[in-house]
Amino acid sequence: MIHPIVKFGDPVLSKIAEPIMAFNKELQGLVSDMFDSMYAAKGIGLAAPQIGISRHIAVIDISFGKDPEQKLVLCNPVIVAKEGKQSEEEGCLSVPEFREKVTRPLKATVRATDAKGKEFTMTGEGLLARAFCHETDHLNGKLYLSYLSSLKRELIVRKIKKLEKAGEWA
Ligand SMILES: [Zn+2]
Repeated sequence: MIHPIVKFGDPVLSKIAEPIMAFNKELQGLVSDMFDSMYAAKGIGLAAPQIGISRHIAVIDISFGKDPEQKLVLCNPVIVAKEGKQSEEEGCLSVPEFREKVTRPLKATVRATDAKGKEFTMTGEGLLARAFCHETDHLNGKLYLSYLSSLKRELIVRKIKKLEKAGEWA
């Protein structure tokens, strides 16, 4: 089932999501909904709060659905190591139409549990490292906007407020 994407301004995006405790059928259903919603929105990563569910789970697929082996489910992810730096434009499904340069680690190691309850550790580089960091931040109530200068951030927030007033941000 495809869920609408929650946009910047909704308080669910700034909350720390609840940990995943049970790796059951209900969770498998959520995972499948999250992939459906992410592909429908043409994203490479989606955190549960972005569909209004404050739980510590994110899905990633940097192949845009082309390679099933690249589908990743991260329950309760923690970034345990970072190396190097990369500075690239980053966007977010919850902040559509905006993209800004954000510095992230070049390599990031995430420790997480998969949808079946098995713990794993994985190191990503480049775009995958960026996705690990971006999605883990979401689960801790943090958006990429918080890495921008306050000037840039305020400019974006002002534009969003205008869109809200025009009824174009819902
Ligand atoms: Zn995002």
